[in-house]
Amino acid sequence: MTYDYDLFVIGAGSGGLAAAKRAASYGAKVAIAEESLVGGTCVIRGCIPKKLMVYGSHFPALFHDAAGYGWKVGDTELDWEYFITAVDNEVLRLSQLHIGFLEKAGVKLFPSRATLVDPHTVEVDGNKITADKILIAVGGRPVKPDIPGMEEYGISSNEMFKLKEKPKHIAVIGAGYIGTEFACIMRGLGSEVTHISRGEKLLKGFDEDIRDNIEEGMTKHGIKLIRKTVVSSVEKVPEGIKLNLSGEHTEPVIADVFLVATGRAPNVEGLGLENVGIDVVSSSIEGPGYSGMNAIAVDEYSQTSIPNIFAVGDVTDRVNLTPIAIGEGRAFADSEFGNNRRVYNHTPVPTAVFSSPEAATVGLTETEAREKYGEDGVKIYRARFRPLYHTLTGSDDRTMMKLVVDSNTEVVLGAHMVGEHSAEVIQGVAIAVTMKATKKDFDATIAIHPSSAEEFVTMR
Ligand SMILES: Cc1cc2nc3c(=O)[nH]c(=O)nc-3n(C[C@H](O)[C@H](O)[C@H](O)COP(=O)(O)OP(=O)(O)OC[C@H]3O[C@@H](n4cnc5c(N)ncnc54)[C@H](O)[C@@H]3O)c2cc1C
Repeated sequence: MTYDYDLFVIGAGSGGLAAAKRAASYGAKVAIAEESLVGGTCVIRGCIPKKLMVYGSHFPALFHDAAGYGWKVGDTELDWEYFITAVDNEVLRLSQLHIGFLEKAGVKLFPSRATLVDPHTVEVDGNKITADKILIAVGGRPVKPDIPGMEEYGISSNEMFKLKEKPKHIAVIGAGYIGTEFACIMRGLGSEVTHISRGEKLLKGFDEDIRDNIEEGMTKHGIKLIRKTVVSSVEKVPEGIKLNLSGEHTEPVIADVFLVATGRAPNVEGLGLENVGIDVVSSSIEGPGYSGMNAIAVDEYSQTSIPNIFAVGDVTDRVNLTPIAIGEGRAFADSEFGNNRRVYNHTPVPTAVFSSPEAATVGLTETEAREKYGEDGVKIYRARFRPLYHTLTGSDDRTMMKLVVDSNTEVVLGAHMVGEHSAEVIQGVAIAVTMKATKKDFDATIAIHPSSAEEFVTMR
C-alpha cells in the first residue's frame, strides 16, 4: 500500500516541529498541519512571549537598584502599547523562522486544522491525505473551572499577551507556575496584584523551601496573597470585575482584569479520536469543571494503542514542558525513521519558575527524597544569604540554595534555588545531577568567586 506521506504530523508546536524536521532529515516524506500560527504554545502564547514580559517587568527594580550604585535614573514610564507590540512582533518573526526551517527541511506545511479519519488518513480542508504513520502533537489549551461568571469575565494566559492596556489591578487564580509567573510579571510592570489560591501555598510539588521563599518574595514585592480561599462566583460591577470569595477570606475582590490560570487540558476535542479508537487516560487536572479531559495514552516509545499512530508533548500529559515535547518528538523520529529505537528519558527534569524572585530546580525535593530514602537516608545542605549585588541596593531580597543528598552514597539527588539567575545556575548544576555527581564531586569543584552560584560548591 502506498501513502501520500511517510509521516503526517498534526500540530506545529515544539514536539511536532522537532519530530517533522528530524524525520525529514532521515529522508522521510513528511507533512505537518497547523491550525494557528506555526510555533505552538511555547513560541506563540507561552515560554517566549512570557519570558520577554518577565524581562520587561524587571526594569523598575533595576532602576531602583541603580540608585544604590550612584546612578540618577530620573522619571521612568512604561509605554504599554510599544511593549506589547514589540513582544508580538518577535513572536511573528519566530513563527516565520520556523516556517523557513520546515521549508529547508523539505516538510510540506498545511496551514489548516487536521482531523483523523482512519488510522492512515487525515482530513485537511476537506481533502483526505494518507500517511504510513501519524504523529499527534496538538498540545493543550487553558481550561477554566465551571464557576458562575468565570467564562465571561475571566481571561486565560492566551489573552495576557493581548491586553490593550496595563491593568490597574489584576486578580489571579491558579497556584501553578503560570499563575505565579503572571502575578509577578504584572506586579513588576506596576499593576496592583491579588493572588488567590485554594491551598495554603503556591507551586504544589516543588520543594517546600522554594515554595516558602517565593511566597515571601512575592509578599515583599507587594503582591497581596489570599490563601485557603476559592472564587465562588464572578460578576461585572461598575468598578470592574467582582470576585466573590469563600473560605478563609470572604471579602470580595474587585479588579479590572481577572486571570484564570487553574489548568490546561489536552487538545483532543474534535480531533476524531473516536474514528480510530485511540485509548485515552484521564488528565492530571483535578477540580470542578475538569472531568472528561482526556490525554492520549502512549507507551515509552510514544506509541498509542493504534500501532502506526504516535503522540508526543502536552497532549499526552506526561511532563508538560517544551524541552520534553522536543525530546519526545526527536526520540520518536529517531526510533521510527532513523533506525535508532530509543526511549526518551524523562528524569531528572530541570525546570524554572520565572517569578520574582526566580526559582529553579532539578531532581528530588526534600520530601520526595525522605519518602524514598527514609528520614535518616537524606542529608540537606541549605544556604540563605543576601547576594553581594544587593549590599548596595538597599533591597533585602535573599537567595536560597539547597542540595538534597543521599546520605549513604553521597549522590546529589536534588538541587533547588530561589534568587536571581536561578534558571541559568541550575541548568549547569543539572548536568552534574543527571550524571549522578556526589557531594564530594561538588566540593572538589573550584568556585567562581564572587558569584552566588559558588555556594553550590562551598556548602558545608
Ligand atoms: C503561559 C505559558 C508559559 C509556558 N512557559 C514555559 C516555559 O517557560 N518553559 C517550558 O519549558 N514550557 C513552558 N510552557 C509549556 C510549553 O509551552 C508546552 O509544554 C509546549 O509548548 C508543548 O509542546 P507541544 O508540541 O506538545 O504542543 P504545542 O506547542 O501546544 O503545539 C501544538 C500545536 O498544535 C496545533 N493544533 C492543535 N490541534 C490541531 C489540529 N487539529 N490541527 C492542526 N493543528 C492543531 C496548535 O495550534 C499548536 O500550535 C508554557 C506554557 C504556557 C501556556
